[in-house]
Amino acid sequence: MIVRKPLASLLFLALVSLAFVPRPLPAQNPNPPAVFGYSDFTEQAKIEEKFLAIPDAKLAGQHLKFLTAEPHLASTPEDRKTAEYVAQKFRAAGLDTEIVPYRVLMNQPKVVRVEAWNAAGQPLMTGPTREHVEGDPYQDDPRVVMPFNGSSGSGDVTGEAVYANYGRLEDFDQLAAQHIDLHGKIVLVRYGANFRGVKVYIAEQRGAAGVLIYSDPQDDGYYKGDAYPMGPWRPETGVQRGSVHYIFKYPGDPETPGVASTLDLPDSARGSGYGNQPHIISIPLSYHDAAPILQALKGPGVPQGWQGALPFRYHLGAVGGQGGVKVHLVSQQDYQRRIIWDVMGTIKGSEYPDDWVVAGNHRDAWVYGAVDPSSGTAAMLESVHGIGALLRQGWRPKRTIVFCNWDAEEEGLIGSTEWVEQHAKALERAVAYFNMDVGVSGPDFSAAAIPSLKQFLRELTRAVPSPLGATVYDQWKNARPEGNEHRRSNAPPDPVGEAPMGDLGSGSDFTPFLQHVGVPSTDIDSGGPYGVYHSVFDNFAWYIQNADPKFVYLQEMARVFGLEALRMADADVLPYDYVSYAREISAYIDAAKRKAADAHLDSLDFAPAQAAAARLITAAQKAHALQLAPSGDLAKLNLALRQTETALISEAGLPNRPWYRHTIYAPGEFTGYAAVVIPGVNEAIDAKDQGRAAQQLTVLTQALTRAAQTLEGAW
Ligand SMILES: [Zn+2]
Repeated sequence: MIVRKPLASLLFLALVSLAFVPRPLPAQNPNPPAVFGYSDFTEQAKIEEKFLAIPDAKLAGQHLKFLTAEPHLASTPEDRKTAEYVAQKFRAAGLDTEIVPYRVLMNQPKVVRVEAWNAAGQPLMTGPTREHVEGDPYQDDPRVVMPFNGSSGSGDVTGEAVYANYGRLEDFDQLAAQHIDLHGKIVLVRYGANFRGVKVYIAEQRGAAGVLIYSDPQDDGYYKGDAYPMGPWRPETGVQRGSVHYIFKYPGDPETPGVASTLDLPDSARGSGYGNQPHIISIPLSYHDAAPILQALKGPGVPQGWQGALPFRYHLGAVGGQGGVKVHLVSQQDYQRRIIWDVMGTIKGSEYPDDWVVAGNHRDAWVYGAVDPSSGTAAMLESVHGIGALLRQGWRPKRTIVFCNWDAEEEGLIGSTEWVEQHAKALERAVAYFNMDVGVSGPDFSAAAIPSLKQFLRELTRAVPSPLGATVYDQWKNARPEGNEHRRSNAPPDPVGEAPMGDLGSGSDFTPFLQHVGVPSTDIDSGGPYGVYHSVFDNFAWYIQNADPKFVYLQEMARVFGLEALRMADADVLPYDYVSYAREISAYIDAAKRKAADAHLDSLDFAPAQAAAARLITAAQKAHALQLAPSGDLAKLNLALRQTETALISEAGLPNRPWYRHTIYAPGEFTGYAAVVIPGVNEAIDAKDQGRAAQQLTVLTQALTRAAQTLEGAW
């Protein structure tokens, strides 16, 4: 469900012809460089070279074609068919393969209707209009689900429309400052700037009766460039479906936070869905359907920054009584406990079978999902193909590798969350989770990671050739893409001259691994101009026209993703960089201290947390020396390195959302995608709650002290 921040990639068209030319792999270096985590990289370099030669662009294209042949919403027969395809490829590569079902609460739409009238009672529109452009070969399939929001409420409401820009907290606050009451209103917001569930969450808190979320052409339509089928951007009728599940409270099955929804879990052990779902209706719209409503709104003109790209002046509406635009919403959602299917493929480790390297992406799509997520699955299948070739030559990883193909990610990270909840204990030994979601929408590699794995990822991408020439690392470093919305945070800047990397917020399947059980995680993608997110037009025809006609970026992502698993599984010493991590944490604390001072929360004492962070930096420096020249018991060193991340988990979890237990990273309650760092402390400061901030500083200090002690246990 990742949201892309589309890039204006001027180079793309110029370079796309070069991208057709397959580049030879770099010749093997006779003296392979030192690689962090390996005392002697010579043998591993040969294994990696063999691996990198296998992922095949053409085969990746065939996987993509199969996976996107039919709409495959989670829990449908077509979704099951794609699960079987993935399982078959896993088995063919020699993985111990299982299709793992869960039974989870999800809605599918029965009726979705929007009607609007102007002040004179004249009809303005009825919708949603069926998505349509000239000549798209996929749009008319009767199985294309009507535009709807996962986790929307059901009902039939009528109210006056109010425009609320992106539906950020500050947007709603601005309406409140203008004394615009939202009780009983239909709030019209545009996509962008935060997670759609956050828009509905705040609207619900402010008393709105319903929410319409539309795609403004300024954000991913003609304002950015040519619309599909001329170009990659969203056409007039294109709708962004998506979940409004409150993932920032907890992801996964709404009825079972913290518990796996296995088939044998009795209904009596399931709760109500409303812990992480809205009560009110929300419906996504195209700008074709939203424009007549927006244009008819009267009342105050919009504040600076609220005007979109439709060719008229926007107004807030909300004139009250006479003169408003009346909107009628009907939403009949069929909520049922439905079966979903994760596909798991395991290769048992030869030396550390209990230490898992987990690598996954999701498979379910709102419609065809060529970019989101089938490009990720197609690339992963070629990673598995490469690993399978090594297995046939007698290679075995030192640690167990588990490849995962999640279901129902789109509805709220459901397949991954249920699996993590089921295996929470075993995952305390998992050394990494590598995620991919929107694998390829263009040529710009980007990544987000826990700080301990940022250098691992930078180093590894230096070993993978880019279709643009040189290595993935070179292309990544020079392109400096804007990054994705869920990756923004107040993190310190990247080291000078290094490829930029964001922090992990939420919006994809790394969330349960990192933020619930504390598995060090990364997330990678190859991005580009992509305006058809979650619409019927994210299909194979769009993909080969706009993203990757020769599938060379699928091949690139297969190599990077597979190499992450391979290099981590075989490392002598776990290649975690705790020095950078501890320094980042220290910087987060300094930033929070400044913010508290600005907010006049003067009695807060940051010294103990700063001292604990300093102790962690010292321990990390010592650990780093040991990692470079390990002596003694490697298993003991590795265990201490791994448990240091677990030490950052707080059993109590965050105030008001105990499912989120990581003391350093969480999705923001009011951003959804973007990470909030040291969330317990920062959110208490934001709320100007001095007591809670003090208590959360204590929790943080304890976690950092635990982490330092754990690391010190390595020697
Ligand atoms: Zn996705």
